[in-house]
Amino acid sequence: MSDKMMAAVLEKPFSIEIKTVNRPKPGPDEALVKVHCIGVCGSDIHYYEHGKIGRYEVKSPIILGHELAGVVVEVGDQVTNVAVGDRVAVEPGVTCSRCDYCKSGRYNLCPDVVFMATPPVDGAWADYVAVRSDFLFPLPDEMSFEEGALLEPLSVGFHAMRRGKVGPQDRLLVVGLGPIGLLAIQAAKLFGVTEIYASDVVPFRRELALEMGATGVINPLEGGVAEQLAQLSGGKGVDVIIETSGNARAISDTVHTVKRGGRIVFVGLPVTNEIPLDIPLLVDSELDVYGIFRYANTYPAAIQALSKSPVDIRKVITHKYPLEQIKEAVEVARTQKDTSIKVMIYPNAGDIM
Ligand SMILES: [Zn+2]
Ligand SMILES: [Zn+2]
Repeated sequence: MSDKMMAAVLEKPFSIEIKTVNRPKPGPDEALVKVHCIGVCGSDIHYYEHGKIGRYEVKSPIILGHELAGVVVEVGDQVTNVAVGDRVAVEPGVTCSRCDYCKSGRYNLCPDVVFMATPPVDGAWADYVAVRSDFLFPLPDEMSFEEGALLEPLSVGFHAMRRGKVGPQDRLLVVGLGPIGLLAIQAAKLFGVTEIYASDVVPFRRELALEMGATGVINPLEGGVAEQLAQLSGGKGVDVIIETSGNARAISDTVHTVKRGGRIVFVGLPVTNEIPLDIPLLVDSELDVYGIFRYANTYPAAIQALSKSPVDIRKVITHKYPLEQIKEAVEVARTQKDTSIKVMIYPNAGDIM
């Protein structure tokens, strides 16, 4: 195997190019994964456009991408949980395993996490990536690489269901139908929820939500969400809202829309830090409010749930490109919000596409 590989390198905003770079060498506790497919995420787009998210700034050239699956092609001396030839999903955040958060199972809050495609850490829009092997999860035969890659955004929905204590008895509203919202609908189905309403301003996204199993859809531009919801649910309302839009108005609306005693799970990040929320109503209604940061311990559970389920998360994939066309892929994801949901990239496309 050559010690070089192809990778998409972001030099500065709007400047991304395919370059020949050194192929990573796996450490003793790592495996080298040949990337089969990898998604374009909203965070990748944000770095591409703005060169930073919050305190994370692209100060030197970086490889983006963190939603992937591939094949193990080499393992370090100490690796026992995966072997060469295994098809695996890659969980992109490697934690310290030692701090209180890690030890208590909330490793998504680990202060020392090394997360792919978060500056200065490289991601995997590349032929190969080396990953600590305890963050690799073998895929059962019945699961495709695409599903393996989508476990990452699905995990956010999965984590939201757990945090919001969602179960089969609940009625749900998912607000915002980008990849995270649409996959939250799928996560809800995997949690046994049968009545799931979904809201977005884009018609294509509402149609896809219905195709993916939403019970009914709402256009927030066509009147009050609570009123539309009351009509759709026969006046019953929803027990849980999963807010993925990050829209300020939508966030303020949640306390008015959810049932008394209900739960609100905030997933989407707004562009402004402070947003009005009716606190007396929140108190009076005894609402539970949860924030979601990434996920923890979702991969094994999601693989178990998905592999035997009729739920098909691949419906969110609207575009596929070889790595060589990364620029076009990113531009589609960035500018065609009316027709694109998840854009999938195929490194090593010559072998597989
Ligand atoms: Zn992502
Ligand atoms: Zn830790």
